[in-house]
Amino acid sequence: MRKISIFGATGSIGQNTIDLIRRQPDAYDVVALTGGHNIAQLAQDAIELRAEIAVTAHDARLPELRAALAGSAVEAAAGPEALLEAASRPADWIMSAIVGAAGLAPGLKALEQGTTLALANKESLVCAGALLMQTAERHGARILPVDSEHSAVFQALVGERLDEVERIIITASGGAFRDWPLEALRTATLAQASSHPNWDMGQRITIDSASMFNKALEVIETREFFGVDPSQIEVLVHPQSLVHALVGFRDGALMSHLGAPDMRHAIGYALHWPERKTLPVPRLDLAAAGQLEFRAPDPNRYPALRLAQEVMARGGLSGAAFNGAKEQALDHFIAGRIGFLDMATITEQVLASLEAHPGLIDAAMTLENVTRVDDLARQATDQVVTQRTG
Ligand code: NAD
Ligand code: MG
Repeated sequence: MRKISIFGATGSIGQNTIDLIRRQPDAYDVVALTGGHNIAQLAQDAIELRAEIAVTAHDARLPELRAALAGSAVEAAAGPEALLEAASRPADWIMSAIVGAAGLAPGLKALEQGTTLALANKESLVCAGALLMQTAERHGARILPVDSEHSAVFQALVGERLDEVERIIITASGGAFRDWPLEALRTATLAQASSHPNWDMGQRITIDSASMFNKALEVIETREFFGVDPSQIEVLVHPQSLVHALVGFRDGALMSHLGAPDMRHAIGYALHWPERKTLPVPRLDLAAAGQLEFRAPDPNRYPALRLAQEVMARGGLSGAAFNGAKEQALDHFIAGRIGFLDMATITEQVLASLEAHPGLIDAAMTLENVTRVDDLARQATDQVVTQRTG
């Protein structure tokens, strides 16, 4: 039996992971499941999968979790320290699917036990890619990509040499607003930004897809995962979301990975790697799909992509500043305090203000320093929003 834990079990990636686990109950011994406010889901899954422990990120929800688990053998715990304790419990495979920078500390703790970390939480790589990679190396741990584009690149690289790679192309659906006139984006509502044409995902990444912040994070994620130069990474808008990525080699060959937009493919690949097992994903019917379209992203429409380039050029802890500002701006958009396009304007402003402090951005990449930059970016974002809204 493989021991597994799922961080962010109640979310979109977490539930897709559980869907795969549930189909082979005898193959897995579930150690920890973690969630946030959805206590009923967390408790139900923990009981069904006979988890050792269920953890909610929120201290105040502990009594409710205890009550929901009453009569079962599942332990209940809450809060950031409990998440770390759960991440240190021995497991052979750990899914990192918390959303946002909050996934970094549990991810690092998991790596310290020398396990395999299936990484959906791209924000941790954006904030602290080198720290994650070094921690994995030091403890003999392995990080496997779960983001669909990065899983696609990883699969296209099987049997290949990284030094023969010329370029990596990741695709972007273009999100909810890909066909809207730029001017209309100014007044785009939360409901409009929260519906994705192709993928069924958590609300935050869905909005980030409409603004291309998700692709901006993924460009940085590509750099951190595969160690390529920023100039070798390209983004292509591909409305059908069937080609997830392409790898170009120095002889001009392009290897691509295609599949239906179903995250259980990438999750299942990471779960069974290096083997391939049968997965319950729809088989792609290319004749039915008919057309595969590609176009270059319009830089005026997607300032987030330019910001990603600037972050990679600046290096240091600028990724943490970028992600912290972006996450906080997203919170303000969700709360209705700022408009859709303001997210990029404010993120750019905050990034520039933090980058003006070399002592901050060039500090050593430790969890403490990353957390400090993340906190400062969120505070600076709040200040900008307060100034704008009065
Ligand atoms: P989601 O919002 O559906 O779920 C997030 C999970 O994290 C939930 O279990 C929630 O309880 C937990 N969580 C939220 N805030 C937390 C905090 N502060 N501390 C601890 N736990 C917290 O998100 P999702 O769409 O499943 O995305 C999860 C991660 O996977 C993100 O990093 C996202 O970018 C990445 N990802 C998601 C998809 C997708 O299809 N949903 C695809 C690629 C990558
Ligand atoms: Mg992706």
